[in-house]
Amino acid sequence: DLSKAIDINEAIKEVINVVRHTLEINNIQMKIEFASSLPLVQGDKKQLQQVFLNLIINAMDAMPDGGELSITTRLDEQQAIEVLFQDTGCGIKEEDLGKIFDPFFTTKPEGRGTGLGLSISYSIISKHNGRIRCESEENKGATFIIDLPPIGGQY
Ligand code: ADP
Ligand code: MG
Repeated sequence: DLSKAIDINEAIKEVINVVRHTLEINNIQMKIEFASSLPLVQGDKKQLQQVFLNLIINAMDAMPDGGELSITTRLDEQQAIEVLFQDTGCGIKEEDLGKIFDPFFTTKPEGRGTGLGLSISYSIISKHNGRIRCESEENKGATFIIDLPPIGGQY
C-alpha cells in the first residue's frame, strides 16, 4: 500500500532502535545527521524500512571488526529527499559494482547471503519513484544513496 505519508527520519529512527544493540556489540559507531523539516514521502513505510534495514545489515556484514556507520538525510537542490548510508567497511570491488543490485549476486559465504537484499531494495525504491545507487572503493567503505521524491512532487 503506497498511499501513506511517511516521515523518513521517523521511519529510520524506528529501524535504528531495532538494531542499536546489535551495532553496539559489533563495535559499530553510529553517526546520525537528520535534516530538520524534511518533506514527507508517499509510500509504504514497512517496505522502506525493509530497505533501510537491508542497508544497515549489509554495512554490519562489511565491518566484522567494527567501524562507523553514518546515516544522513538531506534535501537536494531538486527538493528530492536524499538518504545516505555510509560505512567504513570492506567496500566493493570495481568489477562488482555493476552487479550488486542483481538478484542472487552475493560475495558472502554459502548460507550467509541470498544476494536478494539489494535487488529487493532496488524494486522497492523504484516503486516509490526513487533511485538507489552505490559509490564504493575497495577497502575504503561503501556509500548507498537513495533519492525519493517529496509527496506530491516530481523530479
Ligand atoms: P547479500 O547481503 O545476501 O549478499 P545483497 O543484495 O544485500 O545480498 O548484497 C549483494 C552484495 O553486495 C553483497 O554480497 C556484497 O558483496 C555487496 N555489498 C552490499 N552492501 C555492501 C556494503 N555496505 N559494503 C560492502 N559490500 C556490500
Ligand atoms: Mg544483504
